[in-house]
Amino acid sequence: MTKTASARKAVAEGAPPARGAVVKKAAPARTAADGKSAPARKTATAKKAAPLKTPAPAKKSAVAKAAAPAKATSTAAKKAAPAKKAASAKKTAPAKKAAKSAPAKTSAPPSGESHTALVRRARRINRELAEIYPYAHPELDFENPFQLVVATVLSAQTTDLRVNQTTPALFAKYPTPEDLAVANPEEVEEILRPTGFFRAKTKSVIGLSKALTEQFGGEVPGRLEDLVKLPGVGRKTAFVVLGNAFGRPGLTVDTHFQRLVRRWQWTGATEPDKIEAAVAELFPASDWTMLSHHVIFHGRRICHARKPACGACPIAPLCPAYGEGETDPEKARKLLKYEKGGFPGQRLNPPQSYLDAGGKPAQPLAAG
Ligand code: SF4
Repeated sequence: MTKTASARKAVAEGAPPARGAVVKKAAPARTAADGKSAPARKTATAKKAAPLKTPAPAKKSAVAKAAAPAKATSTAAKKAAPAKKAASAKKTAPAKKAAKSAPAKTSAPPSGESHTALVRRARRINRELAEIYPYAHPELDFENPFQLVVATVLSAQTTDLRVNQTTPALFAKYPTPEDLAVANPEEVEEILRPTGFFRAKTKSVIGLSKALTEQFGGEVPGRLEDLVKLPGVGRKTAFVVLGNAFGRPGLTVDTHFQRLVRRWQWTGATEPDKIEAAVAELFPASDWTMLSHHVIFHGRRICHARKPACGACPIAPLCPAYGEGETDPEKARKLLKYEKGGFPGQRLNPPQSYLDAGGKPAQPLAAG
């Protein structure tokens, strides 16, 4: 059993995950900054003691300045930012220059880790998430690329569950792009009303259906450059379609993905394109699609925007933002978001392969 697996087990049993040795190995930047064995876990004060707050040793300081410390997630780090600003500006100049000529390249991570150390930690987090969410998958229901692109457009500003409750009626009435392209907008609006922004969404799905019909013979194209030209389709939607309908690697940089990779200090970038480029450098392309699912699953169930359940988080030993949320195991457990059915990650109607003989998720979260 890995140390993190032990930690997860400990969480399940109500004990805080054993962090000491694992934290030292997995988060060298934090350990180096603290100079102690992970004190950040223990007190309320520790909540604010994000890695960038502690005066950093020379090595960390150099890299952290180059990596825009003001992007740090803790309030303390934000407060510390102005003091570092002047020095930071000087040191970031070369990096900015490079970024202009090669936008896909990214600067050093805010954690101050070496690239190699960050790659190791990031991949370890992904391996742990893969164990926690072996059934991670796109949570939108679809049967073909057309349904997926429409469902993804509809998922803006609403839940996948809501979309899944809406699309059966839509696809029953308009099963192909040709059908939806000539639909009466008012009738489509009525169907899409529960998803919110239904007028704009109606315009998008009818528009993209027309484009598919007129420009692509009624087929969803399998190339990024074609997909992003469709009405209502940006890079995020395009990568969802490429990764899940065409098996082509793509990173889905949605709101959960952005929040979590910044908490994990994989990047200090705030723009989706830059986040995508930074994360792409940490993983082989073959990992991108499943990585996206793992991260999004974790963001939806445990690492929430406002109240991350740190005390019930199986990857806490690997997370520099531990303490941003509730650290008390009992209180944290109450913050876990379950779908109907009672287990984190369990779908309302999960495919049978995700279930064990008793009809429960094959590997529910230990913390559940
Ligand atoms: S829940 Fe807390 S410990 Fe877990 S990944 Fe999110 S911020 Fe880190």
